Amino acid sequence: MIVFDLKLALFVLLLLLAALIWLAGTAVSHRRHIFSLPTSSSNQTLDAAPVGLLLLNRQTAVTYANAPAQRLLTGEIRAELLRDAQSLPAERPTSHYRVFNLAADRAISWWIYALERGSLVLLTDLSRQRQIEHASQLFLSNLSHELRTPLTAVLAHLEVLRTPDLPDAVHDNSLRLIHQETNRIARLVQALLDLGRLETTAELERRPVDLLLLAEEAIADVILEAETRQIAITLQADTGLARVLADPDKLKQVFLNLLDNGVKYGRPHDKIVVNLQKQPGAVSVVIQDSGPGIPAEHLPHIGKRLYRASADVAGSGLGLALVGEILRRHQSELIIESNTEGEETGTAVRFTLPAI
Ligand code: ADP
Repeated sequence: MIVFDLKLALFVLLLLLAALIWLAGTAVSHRRHIFSLPTSSSNQTLDAAPVGLLLLNRQTAVTYANAPAQRLLTGEIRAELLRDAQSLPAERPTSHYRVFNLAADRAISWWIYALERGSLVLLTDLSRQRQIEHASQLFLSNLSHELRTPLTAVLAHLEVLRTPDLPDAVHDNSLRLIHQETNRIARLVQALLDLGRLETTAELERRPVDLLLLAEEAIADVILEAETRQIAITLQADTGLARVLADPDKLKQVFLNLLDNGVKYGRPHDKIVVNLQKQPGAVSVVIQDSGPGIPAEHLPHIGKRLYRASADVAGSGLGLALVGEILRRHQSELIIESNTEGEETGTAVRFTLPAI
C-alpha cells in the first residue's frame, strides 16, 4: 500500500512539474496572453489532468477552471481559496501553499502562483491520501491490541509458573495457555507476512489451473479437521469446466482460508458445499455452509484487516483480507452473503475467474 502511495505521489508530482513547464513555456512565447482561456483542444487535455487547474484574473475572478477544479471548487473551498488569493502581498510574483482540512478524512491543497496579470492555482484532492493514512493508523492500533492481548496472557502465565510448589494441574494449565497464546501470535505474524509479501509482489505467476483439482486438494487438506468437528464437505462441479489463468498456490490459499472458516465457525452436523459452475467465459466458485452465519451489522466490515465478528473462535482476522487481496490480484472479488435468522442460517462466499 505504501509502495502504491509513493508511486501515486511521484506521478502527481511529475504531472505538476509538466504543467508548470508547459505554463512557463506559454509565458515565454505568449507573454501578453499568459492567463487567456485555453483553446477548446487544450481544454480536453487539461480536463483529464490529475490536478485542478484554475486561472484567476487580477480581480481574483475565475476565468478558467478545468474539470477537476470545477468538481473540487465547492462553496466553502471556493470562498477560502479566493480569500487566500485576494490576501496575497501586492509584490509579484508570489506564491502561497495551503492544506485546507474539511473533515478528518477530507482535505484539499492549493498552490497559488500570483503574477502581474492574475494567478494560476493548482488544486489537489488529498482525501484519498487521508483515508489511506487513517486506515493504516487504525490497522496499527488494532494490530497492537491483537498482539497485546495474547502477550499479556503469556506474561501472566509465566509469572504463575514461577510460583514455588505449584500444583501440577495449575502448572499444566498455564503451559497449555502459553502454548495457545503464542500460537495465536505466530498465526497473526504469519498472516501479516503473507499479506505483506503479496502486496510487494509485482506480478503473480499465473498459469492454466484446473479448479476442480485445486478444490479437491484443498478439501483433502481440511477434511480431517472437518471430520473431527463432524462437519461434512461436498464438492459439486459442472462437467467440462474450463481452466482458469491463476497462481495455483495463491488460489489454493483462497480455497483453504474459505474452507477453514466454514469448518472453524461450523457446528457439529453442519455442511459445507463447494460448487464450481460454468459461466459464459468464466468459472464461478461458491462455498456455502450451513453454519451460524455472520450477523448483518458485521457483514459490511468483514474482510477488512483484523476485523472479527466472533471473538470466541481463534483467528487472526486476516484470512478474508488475504483472500480479498489474492482475488483482486486475479481481477476478481469476493462476495459474501450470510443469514443468521430462521432455520436456514449459513454463509455463502463466491468469486468468479475468467476461463482461458
Ligand atoms: P478469522 O481469522 O477471524 O477467521 P477471517 O478474516 O477469515 O478471520 O474472518 C473474519 C470474520 O468473519 C471472522 O472472525 C468471523 O467472525 C467471520 N466469518 C468468516 N467466515 C465465516 C463463516 N463461514 N461463518 C461464520 N462467520 C464467518
